[in-house]
Amino acid sequence: MKIVILGAGESGVGAALLAQEKGFEVFVSDRGIIKAEFKSELEEAKIPYEELQHTESKIFEASEIIKSPGIPDKVVLIKELKQRGIPVISEIEFAARFTNATIIGITGSNGKTTTTKLIFHLLKTAGLNVAVGGNIGTSFARLLVEGNHDYYVLELSSFQLDGIQSFRPDISVLLNITPDHLDRYDYKMENYVYSKFRIIENQKDKDLFIYSGFDENIKTYLQDKQLKVKEIPVNEVFYKKNKLTVAVSEFDTTKCSLKGQHNMFNATCAIHAVQAIGVDEKFIQQGLDTFINAPHRLEYVATIDGVEFINDSKATNVDAVFYALSAMEKPVIWVVGGVDKGNDYKAIESLVLEKVKAIVCLGVDNTPIIEAFKGKIEIIEETQSCKDAIKISQQYAHVGDVVLLSPACASFDLFKNYIDRGDQFKTAVLEKKTKD
Ligand code: ADP
Repeated sequence: MKIVILGAGESGVGAALLAQEKGFEVFVSDRGIIKAEFKSELEEAKIPYEELQHTESKIFEASEIIKSPGIPDKVVLIKELKQRGIPVISEIEFAARFTNATIIGITGSNGKTTTTKLIFHLLKTAGLNVAVGGNIGTSFARLLVEGNHDYYVLELSSFQLDGIQSFRPDISVLLNITPDHLDRYDYKMENYVYSKFRIIENQKDKDLFIYSGFDENIKTYLQDKQLKVKEIPVNEVFYKKNKLTVAVSEFDTTKCSLKGQHNMFNATCAIHAVQAIGVDEKFIQQGLDTFINAPHRLEYVATIDGVEFINDSKATNVDAVFYALSAMEKPVIWVVGGVDKGNDYKAIESLVLEKVKAIVCLGVDNTPIIEAFKGKIEIIEETQSCKDAIKISQQYAHVGDVVLLSPACASFDLFKNYIDRGDQFKTAVLEKKTKD
């Protein structure tokens, strides 16, 4: 059996290491340049690879192909492989064959990382033997190479789900479905929705499906479907005055760092998942008290002259901004912009009018934002660096205001990625703070 892996990123290299460990002949091919750290891993493991090309003669010898989630199905090579009848699967499909552990899979357009990390943290707090990865951090395949765990909490992207055949989470969580990545789905929302729902495709009647009962796209899809799994629709979030109720248990959120209604929804889904596993209430409470989310998600940075600065660089679509603005209790200077993926700002217009006192654009082409809000928000400024964005924000901010970076856009016009954008924002804020 020869396995060929297309794409030598985290998932490809993880798959290569696992395939080799399981006794397969492995070849890795990447059309781009392979990162030095991955190259040295492949060399150390003596796994043959190529970069800057796909040698078809070597690739067509494969009995199975593991494709990086980044490679679209429509590229010629993938079409050719499918025509030849060579199965093309994703790394999670491959990895799942080699474990009987309990799998908790989390997908959705927004909130995956937060919910994945929270479920992991709650299980860990309860003392369970658990690992976390998938679309964040370590690939599922690499987790399996590194050791055995009883539970795997996996963040799953739609691209990863596109390449499954029999992958079956014991517990699946579908948070929401809002337009994203439509370029990969022929600009058809129904294709994207279908892709997300593949998370339950192989689930059986003893498995559990936790999902948003109020998401319109989820509701529409489920309308005429008979589910063959146990289900928990989260129809409502029971959150009031620092008390979150899930099923029959009440939790205190005073010490919890998660803020906003959307995060209480994420927490509700996470708690349902761990309750189903049997985690005791006291560990859930302890876990909520000590949870630290990944950076760049409504992350508090600092307060300067009574003005709070929040970094939500990961908000790369309008829906995430909707929830960020909803969570703000003070007047907002909104730092927004970047590469627009076809945003419809109408969806957040009334919220912006209610909460935002000034807009500071941070992008190369800010036309869509200016078009959407000119004449509606009095102050709209344009900037092209975090330093300038902060300087200008400070001109308009008064004691008790908040400067919120929640861009609604991708970052690669001015930054390497959303992490770089968030880091530059934080650095610029903290530099200001030490100067003042
Ligand atoms: P993902 O991994 O799906 O991108 P993250 O947890 O990294 O999700 O959050 C991405 C952005 O979406 C952040 O700006 C965050 O504040 C926002 N967000 C988190 N949970 C939700 C939710 N349930 N609905 C809408 N937006 C959310």
